[in-house]
Amino acid sequence: MTLTVIALGSNLDNPPQQLKAACCRLSRLQGLTGLRVSSVFTSPPMGPQDQPPFFNAVATCLYIEEPRQLLAELQAIEQAMGRVKVRHWGERCIDLDIIQMGEQLIHDIDLSIPHPGISERLFVVEPMIELLGADHKVPGLDDLGTLRDELKHQSISLYQDIDISGATVA
Ligand code: AMP
Repeated sequence: MTLTVIALGSNLDNPPQQLKAACCRLSRLQGLTGLRVSSVFTSPPMGPQDQPPFFNAVATCLYIEEPRQLLAELQAIEQAMGRVKVRHWGERCIDLDIIQMGEQLIHDIDLSIPHPGISERLFVVEPMIELLGADHKVPGLDDLGTLRDELKHQSISLYQDIDISGATVA
């Protein structure tokens, strides 16, 4: 069983509901237990600016299968939810990324774990702190509290109109 962190993002087709639907699908994955989901945060798009703001959350769980199995499962969920690749860092109805799998280090062309964007993204660090605490460490990085201090110039907002933490019981 590996403590696993998954980031969820959406900026199309009712993003908060997309995040909720993705959590329901995650909760049904084989080999995955103990799913917990953070609050939802909104932030400006990272890539092209002519797209809607993003809604993001983080989920933690215990996962028993290999990292590549999880990547395949996440990509299958993205497909099933109708994700279409429009442009790099562009709009999407759902984006699921593996952030951390315990102490695993993978640096392959199609899979990087820990996810290389963590230390640049407050919308990943803040919800991780909510679930794992500021002392939590991702291999190769400072603790989450230190990462948050370094990212405090970024603007993210807590979105309070939806609670998706209960979305884990499908
Ligand atoms: P994205 O457009 O953000 O969904 O990126 C998709 C691509 O990133 C896929 O082709 C994955 O193989 C690759 N990728 C590399 N590392 C990861 C990761 N940690 N989690 C999810 N996708 C990853």
